[in-house]
Amino acid sequence: MVIVMSHKATDEQIEAVMKRLKEKGFRINLSRGVERTVIGAIGDETMLGDAGIELLPGVDKVIPILRPYKLASRIMKEEGTVIRIGDVEIGGGTVQVMAGPCAVESKEQLFEAAEKVKQAGARILRGGAYKPRTSPYSFQGMAEKGLQLLAETREKYGLLIVTEVMDPRSLPLVVEYADIVQIGTRNMQNFWLLREVGQCNKPVLLKRGLSATIEEWLMAAEYILSEGNPNVILCERGVRTFESYTRNTLDLSAVPVIKHLSHLPIIVDPSHALGKYELVPSMAVAAVAAGADGLLIEVHPNPQEALCDGAQSLTPKKFGKVMVQVGEVARAIGKKV
Ligand code: PEP
Ligand code: MN
Repeated sequence: MVIVMSHKATDEQIEAVMKRLKEKGFRINLSRGVERTVIGAIGDETMLGDAGIELLPGVDKVIPILRPYKLASRIMKEEGTVIRIGDVEIGGGTVQVMAGPCAVESKEQLFEAAEKVKQAGARILRGGAYKPRTSPYSFQGMAEKGLQLLAETREKYGLLIVTEVMDPRSLPLVVEYADIVQIGTRNMQNFWLLREVGQCNKPVLLKRGLSATIEEWLMAAEYILSEGNPNVILCERGVRTFESYTRNTLDLSAVPVIKHLSHLPIIVDPSHALGKYELVPSMAVAAVAAGADGLLIEVHPNPQEALCDGAQSLTPKKFGKVMVQVGEVARAIGKKV
């Protein structure tokens, strides 16, 4: 349930409500908004007995949360979450673009990708060091060496790093190197991994599962939030449908739906959704128009030679053009890039 405090409630009254809830075994989430203070409480409501929380001084109203996700819900937190990493904000008025190769392949490849995506205006570099490949015979990523190259690239170019973790065993290493830890589509319901990243101190980019409903996706976010990590960024990357022309079907409606249901920021990955580079630009601008807080786009200095996902990767030149269009659409809806 959510306890909405009166705008006149004093700190002592807020404390007293939280104390009562804690005594009754509730987990508490305090959200001090500009307009009002809201206390989220998760626990067994029958424990409160007849003397409900409504009667405590300073309480305006008590609203039950009927949705299965609580901490991820907008009922719990009305204003959108803004995640700050250094001077980069995700979920604010700036469309943040994460761009770079599917996989880290070499220092030369990564440096060139970083230089070009930075020139085009991106602030966050993506690149996988652990790759979840369908075939065990495909390139699996450079592992720790790849993470080291990402860290070196961050130093040289001043970009933030987002990279995927596939296994709780490599999480401490990934956390050491990454600014944002990515959970890939195949692991969206790997609940042990979700709990582990929920205990780490880095923001988490949570991709939508291959066939996940929006509710399942928000429940996955709930796992992370419930372990104490409030910094979850959702990423729509297409879902599997009967359509086979594109790699997946991009569900752009997920953007306004998530905005309605949740306070968490949402970005869109048109590269993995479409699977074809020529379809990426139009969906990138459409995602921004739909209200996405950012984009994830695969860019490779030489897509024909990419070890992974070359067909959907943009050349730096094409990426530069997309960034110009993205900027125009962002400005048209009162945002910037
Ligand atoms: C990726 O971003 O590198 C990736 C593997 O994406 P997804 O998990 O969406 O397939
Ligand atoms: Mn990829």
